[in-house]
Amino acid sequence: MGLSNVHGVPGKLRRSGDPQILDGRAIGAALREEVAAEIAGRVAMGAAPPGLATILVGDDPASRVYVGSKHRACGEVGIESFDERLPVDVSGEELEATIRRLNEDDRVDGILLQLPLPHGLDSARYVGLIDPAKDVDGLTSANVGNLWQGRPGLSPCTPRGVIEILDSSGVEIEGRKAVIVGRSPLVGKPLAAMLLARNATVTVCHSRTVDLQGACRGADILIAAAGVPMMLGRDHVKPGATVIDVGINRTEDGLVGDVDFDSAVSVAGAITPVPGGVGPMTIACLLANTVQAAGARRYL
Ligand code: NDP
Repeated sequence: MGLSNVHGVPGKLRRSGDPQILDGRAIGAALREEVAAEIAGRVAMGAAPPGLATILVGDDPASRVYVGSKHRACGEVGIESFDERLPVDVSGEELEATIRRLNEDDRVDGILLQLPLPHGLDSARYVGLIDPAKDVDGLTSANVGNLWQGRPGLSPCTPRGVIEILDSSGVEIEGRKAVIVGRSPLVGKPLAAMLLARNATVTVCHSRTVDLQGACRGADILIAAAGVPMMLGRDHVKPGATVIDVGINRTEDGLVGDVDFDSAVSVAGAITPVPGGVGPMTIACLLANTVQAAGARRYL
């Protein structure tokens, strides 16, 4: 049996035939380094650093942690970050005024409205006020439309992270059958558009899909994004398929994905772990989107 490098784990060898463990931490770190190098180059030529503004409404502890890690990540690659905090009982007018002020602020290339918003504030309405050129979450109608029509624009960070993992692991997309379990606007739908743009044949499954197992077993690339702990196991995986687990579920046993890793790993050709798979890619792609937005707005 031949031996080859395990992707992203320098120096470690695996037997050919063993599944490839797709290391999102290593791939995310490499992307962050690329982003940092691009920013350093621009700044050395006299450009101002890119800027990312986050808007956090209320004091949800999980959202506070997410926002905090986004600011830390910005600092590490040379992105200037702006931290807008609004009280849980903020008025719609005040939130709107904040978004409009950031739309006009030339130091700000990316605006991220941390979701979910507290009860009573309609997320779609406020996301829709963000200037599409600064919409680094890729959630405005303009960017969703651009994505489906194959036009340039900003695309959502987690699906972008999935594509980065496939590309940097040498998984071919064109002509392959991709099956996505989940059709949310944040993950499943944009990922379908991205895989279609890369010439995969895409099936999107959801809670009303009949014979989910049969659909999954047809996949060369199987992507789980349902938010149901360990719902997919070896019986859902075609031998040799690539399995990408987007799910992040907090259970009594700790953090688990939508894939039962120990079961699926016995048949998959390549698979992401949870944690350490797609998770670390999301913030790395947010940084990359911010640099892309800055590039489109002021470097070109
Ligand atoms: P949503 O709850 O918005 O969407 C879940 C989707 O899965 C829906 O389309 C739903 O179908 C489908 N679904 C639910 N149960 C089943 C089932 N039993 N069989 C088939 N389909 C099912 O979730 P998100 O897309 O926001 O997130 C999905 C997962 O990804 C979560 O675990 C989340 O924590 C994780 N996540 C991870 C990120 C990361 O950085 N790695 C970022 C974002 C999300 P229907 O439409 O019919 O209801």
